[in-house]
Amino acid sequence: MLKEFRADLHIHSCLSPCSDWDMSPRKIVQKSLEIGLDLIALCDHNSAENAGATMREGDKRGLPVLPGMEICSREEVHILALFDELDPALEMQAHVYANLPGENNSKVFGCQVVANEDDEVIGENPRLLIGATRLSLYDIVDKTHMLGGINISCHVDRPSYGIINQLGFIPGDLNLDALEVSYRIDLAQAAQEIPGIGSYSCVTASDAHYLDDIGRACSVFELAAPTLAEIRLALARKEGRRILV
Ligand SMILES: [Zn+2]
Ligand SMILES: [Zn+2]
Repeated sequence: MLKEFRADLHIHSCLSPCSDWDMSPRKIVQKSLEIGLDLIALCDHNSAENAGATMREGDKRGLPVLPGMEICSREEVHILALFDELDPALEMQAHVYANLPGENNSKVFGCQVVANEDDEVIGENPRLLIGATRLSLYDIVDKTHMLGGINISCHVDRPSYGIINQLGFIPGDLNLDALEVSYRIDLAQAAQEIPGIGSYSCVTASDAHYLDDIGRACSVFELAAPTLAEIRLALARKEGRRILV
């Protein structure tokens, strides 16, 4: 039996330097439930260190949370890597960290807070999470798939860090699972206005850095369960699974 699931697959926490302090794992889950989301993914810049706490809080409160990351490739393209379980997400994180130069300057870029599900600060991440990795888009996609995850190219309609603006086109041999259109433009309009996206499955998401932005855009999926395996089927338009909006 298939059901509808409202999913916001691109939410930042207080670990992202550009994100609000209020974006703690507990408050993200609370806000997502308040506005009726059925599934979220936590995707901080180049890190998944707050994903575990958000998953545990989601588990307690009945909200499925996928662990993810918004990875910045060496071409300066943002790409989501989403996983079902924490372990592969942390393995991806180790790969990203091994290829992420620099240290954060919190006065310039902002704090990078690692928090637990009780809203307590565990520490601060010292890496330059806002920076670009040395990984090519192909490296990121291959490694994500090897670990059982999926890749969604972020905010393809945007000039900053969107694949079309950075490369001029979407390479046909880059094995992307989907594209994300930002909250600024609706999916139908995007399909007409953005060249080259018609052959891809497209989703939209909030890219929230503030609590009030969570769910400002989200996609509705028809799935058997709120899992990554089901989302993968919907993106591939298989077994009746699909993206409704
Ligand atoms: Zn981005
Ligand atoms: Zn983002």
